[in-house]
Amino acid sequence: MSVRVRYAPSPTGFQHIGGIRTALFNYFFARSAGGSFILRVEDTDRGRSTPDALDDLYSTLEWLGVEWDEGPRRGGPFGPYVQSERRGIYTERAEELITSGSAYRCFCGPERLDALRAEQAAAKSASVGYDRRCRSIPPAEAASRAAAGEPHVIRLKVPSEGKTLFSDVLMGSTGRKNRDISPDPVLIKTDGFPTYHLANVVDDHMMGITHIMRAQEWIPSAPLHILIYRSFGWSPPLYCHLPMVMGKDGRKLSKRHGSTALREFREDGYLPEALINFITLLGWHYDASREFFTSADLCRFFTLEKISKAPAVFDYRKLEWFNGHYIRGKTPDSLKAELLAVLSARGLIENPPSNREKEIFQGAFPIIRERLKRLGDVVPMLRFLFADPGTGDIAEAIPKSMDARGAADALREGIRLLEAAPRPPEGGEGEAAAASWEADREAEFRREAETRAWKIGAMLQPLRLALTASRVSPPLFPSIRLLGLEESLRRARRLAHCLNEAPESD
Ligand code: GLU
Repeated sequence: MSVRVRYAPSPTGFQHIGGIRTALFNYFFARSAGGSFILRVEDTDRGRSTPDALDDLYSTLEWLGVEWDEGPRRGGPFGPYVQSERRGIYTERAEELITSGSAYRCFCGPERLDALRAEQAAAKSASVGYDRRCRSIPPAEAASRAAAGEPHVIRLKVPSEGKTLFSDVLMGSTGRKNRDISPDPVLIKTDGFPTYHLANVVDDHMMGITHIMRAQEWIPSAPLHILIYRSFGWSPPLYCHLPMVMGKDGRKLSKRHGSTALREFREDGYLPEALINFITLLGWHYDASREFFTSADLCRFFTLEKISKAPAVFDYRKLEWFNGHYIRGKTPDSLKAELLAVLSARGLIENPPSNREKEIFQGAFPIIRERLKRLGDVVPMLRFLFADPGTGDIAEAIPKSMDARGAADALREGIRLLEAAPRPPEGGEGEAAAASWEADREAEFRREAETRAWKIGAMLQPLRLALTASRVSPPLFPSIRLLGLEESLRRARRLAHCLNEAPESD
């Protein structure tokens, strides 16, 4: 039997790391097994499903290059693949369960259910949940009340004795006592929409799903799902509940730890190839030595046997490191095009970039390439070349060992050295000329710092701030060369003036 797996998100929020990990595991498993990967939209929770979440689902998968074989926008033999378009199917199936005696109509309205809940809470009753009152209504009476339009739900009859077990690829045989399963959960709601449980089981069966790979948080629902399969007389697919994804503090990964939505990583300039590689290693490994995998590799190598039982830890620094690796693996031309697009999108340069902007960027590219961890890093790194950043926070210009006057002195010495410096070589004069100009300047600054018993860093800090209004920038002498002596001097004099005006510190 050929493998058929699915990713079945509910479009109630943006795609996050955990969901995408599920999608990737299913996708790579399907590809490595020569099977089919199905996308199904579980939008039965009408109140919480949003069109934005749906757009985000499609655009994220598309950006990652995850192509589904069957699903919305693509079709397939078991469509439609959006649950809100399959309502009739679930009602029909639920009616079948009523006919076979596995389900019943319940007419208890919200007031009765609220009162029941309050009663159970007041009595600190051990049995909580629905008291199964409508189970005793004769089916013919229930049918005529429903036909007369009386609002109702359809509930599954959960046995109160025994246990429901299921087998999980990672956990082996597991399950729970039937009396611990919610008494008679709703299959069809008053508005005629199915609940997640019914729709999920019916679709997995009708779509011929062979393996269910999903987050561990669904383990508690699995025994109920097994009961639904049995009520229909169907055999369930094989389950594989995936290990949790944690932050470094051992708690479930959440916004507290940092970004979790894929779109945020995308906006920050993470590459799809880095995210795919990194996310697939959250709970899966190939062998102890290899960590770099392209999508094509994973389509060949992914196996269920290598999924780990232990929770996976999401390490943001490691992801940055992976991203830096993939950034450096790009051809210069494609990396340049992506960086220019980021600069345009952030409004630092025109869209499309002017020739002058391209020229400036071209000069700066070699000095930032090795330093990029995310594409978005180009913005703070190169902002100073495309716009005058002003003087920024003057306090930042003052080295720890100095006060404002000292910083002004150090800056003035720097200005003096630059005023005496020869014109920096133009781009066309070659890398060697640029490197030697920078090395000469650096040597002069070092000599001067030594004479004055200043640390070289203390001499460079105010100058760096003057040029970029930031403490993090590309190396200083290449930055001066790129900005030009005249503009560098203008910004340096401006800051020196501000430092002089700064109130004396005690
Ligand atoms: N719609 C469920 C979710 O969003 C799917 C659970 C499952 O894969 O069975 O997680």
